[in-house]
Amino acid sequence: MIKEAPILTLSGVTKNFGGVKAVDSVDLVGKAGQVHGLIGPNGAGKSTLIGCITGISQIDAGEIHFDGNRIDHLPVHRRARVGIGRTFQKIRLASQLTVYENVASGLAASWFARGGRGWLQALTPLRSSVISEPVMKSLAEAGIEDIAEELVSSVPYGRRHFVELARTLVANPKIIFLDEPATGLTALERERFSNMVRGVASRGVLVVLVEHDLALVGELCDQVTVIEQGRRIFTGTPTEAQRDPAVVQAYLGNMSFITTEGASSGKDYVKTT
Ligand code: ADP
Ligand code: MG
Repeated sequence: MIKEAPILTLSGVTKNFGGVKAVDSVDLVGKAGQVHGLIGPNGAGKSTLIGCITGISQIDAGEIHFDGNRIDHLPVHRRARVGIGRTFQKIRLASQLTVYENVASGLAASWFARGGRGWLQALTPLRSSVISEPVMKSLAEAGIEDIAEELVSSVPYGRRHFVELARTLVANPKIIFLDEPATGLTALERERFSNMVRGVASRGVLVVLVEHDLALVGELCDQVTVIEQGRRIFTGTPTEAQRDPAVVQAYLGNMSFITTEGASSGKDYVKTT
């Protein structure tokens, strides 16, 4: 995959819920290997927009193209098949199963979604090497090999995010959606999360990140798109967003993308002093 090549294109994407235009004629381009932030006030339509791309919501107007295919008419499992992965704003894991089993079942589900011979493949025993190798790789990428055999019910909330991520990554997606992933993370987990996202993007995956922790957004995102009342009001770097009067008025107010330590990790920051 060519890094930085446009892989996701939305044009005029619209989703209505009754009288509410949750997503209103949104245009957006996402590039392979980038972290693209989706920010804006609560209720702006960020989660709905993600649902439109993953197929949870059928759009009312517009087009979505991904990796050379038009996907907006495809059901969820067909979109998963072309490389669309996601985690949910509310964690969805089988708490009575182990971490390993959750991730392994994510892989089996991705095979099943492929249809055809994938259905048979999905019946492969969860401990066989065709499953354990990619599962252990994803557990390692998410930094949770040490808890592979623990029941999810006994895993602290923050680390469950990483289990969900491993389950998403095991299907080898070309794009992943992280909807408020930093909620409830400790400082150490946040740091691990940040490194992991960078690692995933460096493999050429487009990461779409919805997050209210602006320091994290500033640290990770190459581009941010700002959504307000269903509309895209801005796309650019975090630094450019900080300088945009409409963005400041609609969302940022006196918040900024400056990191908590005030330290730069290679991306340009806005100093608000
Ligand atoms: P965000 O993720 O930016 O906080 P959402 O996408 O959750 O915003 O919501 C956007 C708007 O769409 C809100 O007004 C919300 O109430 C509405 N909405 C979201 N999902 C549904 C649904 N399933 N049915 C009806 N209205 C919805
Ligand atoms: Mg949301």
